[in-house]
Amino acid sequence: MPRIQCPRCLRPQSHCLCPLIPSLDSRTRVLLLQHPSEVNHALNTARLAALGLKNAELIVGEVFEDLPRLLSQTGYQARLLFPGEDAHPMQAYTASDEPLLLVVPDGTWRKARKMLHLNPLLAALPRVTLAEGGVSRYRLRKAPGPGALSTVEAIVQALETLEAPTSFAPLLKPFEALIEGQIAAMGEETFLRNHTHQ
Ligand SMILES: [Zn+2]
Repeated sequence: MPRIQCPRCLRPQSHCLCPLIPSLDSRTRVLLLQHPSEVNHALNTARLAALGLKNAELIVGEVFEDLPRLLSQTGYQARLLFPGEDAHPMQAYTASDEPLLLVVPDGTWRKARKMLHLNPLLAALPRVTLAEGGVSRYRLRKAPGPGALSTVEAIVQALETLEAPTSFAPLLKPFEALIEGQIAAMGEETFLRNHTHQ
């Protein structure tokens, strides 16, 4: 019998996370570009971030035809959250700053690089990175370095840096529940082995 899925959070209906998902305001607009391979991943944290922020949008694809329109939102300066030689660590907004349209590729490093390659407009965006020392509380992924965070954690850290001292911690609530459920269900070791994909 197929499991019934919640159409909003895409979890099985019996484990729907929607009651835990907040509805937060942010000055920053977040645009999540999700590789199709992530959609049915057990830890679809990009979707949790997109649902929990009023000023966020998630688009699934590999080639994004609509990018010129998506990136030219008036009142925002578009930045790509991705490492690069010229990437600048984010800092708190000053009073005169236009808020960012923070573009966040969601996929493994390899898939994310491919997305940049296929979408030159993305690759051409000025880049920003998280401030030093972002360590995942969960360390669930085979991380290339200590800074590797899940997508929702990276977004929380970015927003808390840009919009300090506002807290975006409620965005992590459904993620925490998801993690706890996953770990309890399969044992931590198996979980770590199977759910690492950066
Ligand atoms: Zn749901």
